[in-house]
Amino acid sequence: MTNLTNYHSHCLYCDGRANMEDFIRFAISEGFSSYGISSHAPLPFSTAWTMEWDRMDDYLSEFSRLKAKYADEIELAVGLEIDYLNEESNPSLSRFQELPLDYCIGSVHMLYSPEGKVVDIDTPADHFRELVDAHFGGDLDFVVRLYYKNLLRMVELGGFDIVGHADKMHYNASCYRPGLLDEAWYDTLVRDYFAAIAERGYIVEINTKSYHELGTFYPNERYFSFLKELGIRVQVNSDAHYPERINNGRAEALAALKKAGFTSVVEWHGGKWEDKEIL
Ligand SMILES: [Zn+2]
Ligand SMILES: [Zn+2]
Repeated sequence: MTNLTNYHSHCLYCDGRANMEDFIRFAISEGFSSYGISSHAPLPFSTAWTMEWDRMDDYLSEFSRLKAKYADEIELAVGLEIDYLNEESNPSLSRFQELPLDYCIGSVHMLYSPEGKVVDIDTPADHFRELVDAHFGGDLDFVVRLYYKNLLRMVELGGFDIVGHADKMHYNASCYRPGLLDEAWYDTLVRDYFAAIAERGYIVEINTKSYHELGTFYPNERYFSFLKELGIRVQVNSDAHYPERINNGRAEALAALKKAGFTSVVEWHGGKWEDKEIL
């Protein structure tokens, strides 16, 4: 097995289910060549799934300790998965930029409802339906447009390297309304977003977290050849919250990328991102 890497993973500093070291040891035992830790960055309010600012020093020093300890066995990188919430809280904030990180992932998990309530829309599909009905009056189009508006704003503001699970809402939204992905306005929205990503040179991860459970990658495989056309660089990440899931869906994602014409993925080697042939 080759291209054994993963740069999207959570540990006990946020909502992951094992220590940072457990993930690294598991990656080594699976033969990974490089690995990245990306806890959910602090938000302006407490949640059950994000790190708090007072844990940041420990997070960084624990990573440094492990990087030195396992230097002969695996190349390690430290990052954060940072939410775009609004203009005041997003990856471009100087507070994030000043951290000694190797990389950042930019993601959207939450939207403001018209009443100003923060709604976490990164939920199972049945709960997503309830949230759209309760907080957005059942207006799915509004929710989808708001999601891509925020994603596009995140891309404009910058401050990150990798676009996290680029179109993750597509699964829930198409459970709410089957056929959505084939609607022209939706397709245009997604393609404009990828064009903006390509213009600015971000890496797009192929997020395999739900592949075994839901049968889809984020972004959806239907866009892989479009990403290739746009010249976007990609990498396969499992968004693992459990050590034993770090390799889930990776081989399937690499095969799908190859089928779409990709010959390389981006890996962390020698302290920087490098294009590596898909083998
Ligand atoms: Zn995420
Ligand atoms: Zn994540």
